[in-house]
Amino acid sequence: MSGTTLDDYTGRYATRVHGMAQSEIRALFSVANRPEVVSLAGGNPFTAALPFDDLKEMFDKLFSDSGAKSLMYCGGQGDPALREAITEVLDLTGISASADDLVLTTGAQQGLDLLARTFLDPGDIVLAEGPTYVGALGVFQAAQADVRHLPMDEDGLVPAGLEEALKGLRKEGREAKFLYTVPTFQNPTGVTLSEERREEILRIAERHGLLVIEDDPYSMISFEGEPPAPLRARVDRGVIYLGTVSKIFAAGLRLGWVLAPPAVRDKLLLAVEASILCPSSLTQEATRRFLTEMEWRQQVKVFTTLYQERRDALLGALGDYMPEGATWTRPGGGMFVWLDLPEGLNSKDMLPRALSERVAYVPGTGFYADGDGAAHMRLNFSFPTAEDIREGVRRLGGVIAAEKQL
Ligand code: PMP
Repeated sequence: MSGTTLDDYTGRYATRVHGMAQSEIRALFSVANRPEVVSLAGGNPFTAALPFDDLKEMFDKLFSDSGAKSLMYCGGQGDPALREAITEVLDLTGISASADDLVLTTGAQQGLDLLARTFLDPGDIVLAEGPTYVGALGVFQAAQADVRHLPMDEDGLVPAGLEEALKGLRKEGREAKFLYTVPTFQNPTGVTLSEERREEILRIAERHGLLVIEDDPYSMISFEGEPPAPLRARVDRGVIYLGTVSKIFAAGLRLGWVLAPPAVRDKLLLAVEASILCPSSLTQEATRRFLTEMEWRQQVKVFTTLYQERRDALLGALGDYMPEGATWTRPGGGMFVWLDLPEGLNSKDMLPRALSERVAYVPGTGFYADGDGAAHMRLNFSFPTAEDIREGVRRLGGVIAAEKQL
């Protein structure tokens, strides 16, 4: 931890380390994971829903067919056969990509880190939704970037807000390095950028020469038909796209990808080699087999059906137990609901009381670079059972109601 007198190394750290703080989510985990606490604070997919007998067979085969290769180094860009299989996954979302333009990473999280290393100098401006994904904030802050949040509503990022921010920057004589966006079933709000706004955002980006980084881990976890196609499906230039198997297969495998134009891809590749030499061969081979030999789309349906039931349980419980003045999003997919507290309440201040009432959530402040967000909280519905969700929301409703009386 920085700033403590117990740390003998304080004088030795690189400047960028001083901008790195423990995320509020990680700080919460030790208490939130106690068995008596209903945790709506997590962000874990429900891997217990995976078909373990089938996976055991798949791994058996993997070791007997290609054990030595799977336990060896590989090329920095990742296995061409897996990259080819990923182009077929992308095809389902409307993105036509060449396997050559994909760089495989240790989760989308590493993709973000590689992009930060490639594009960001200290002080550079990054535009992002307000709120935005906490893990992206961590990466941008470690790169000493200046994150500026843009307004969003129930249809996602507000195009006029983007336009205004870009004009403001131009007046300052500055430019944003890129816009970072999670347009579909966003973490933390669950909100999806509407069809019309996708087109509008792209028009604005094109007009201003703004690079867009589209982070898309959730679009296959859709409860109500197909979500609008990704930004990258609509244009071939100007959008770098991040994907992952974390939500459709297994987060613990740590496998993601970046789809980037050839010049950027080459820089990312150098960054991969400098940072990890190559992504895990074992993970890649397991993922390749999952995508080519298993009923993976069926498995995505299993996750989707389960999360939809749990989302319904969460929305139902919120309707039953939240006091007057609280409002919340109604996500069509993904894993999170964003709750606005009744006027005057502060989710960060309230957390110790919630924990003593045995319910955990993530305060909204974790999702802003500037300390904003205290009037909100993120609630997860992918991991707790429907029954626990209901009980957790009952407890939370009591805490909020009591807080309103103070
Ligand atoms: N981006 C977003 C928006 C996420 O929610 C997450 C995971 N919580 C990630 C990236 C990181 O995903 P991965 O597990 O592939 O590193």
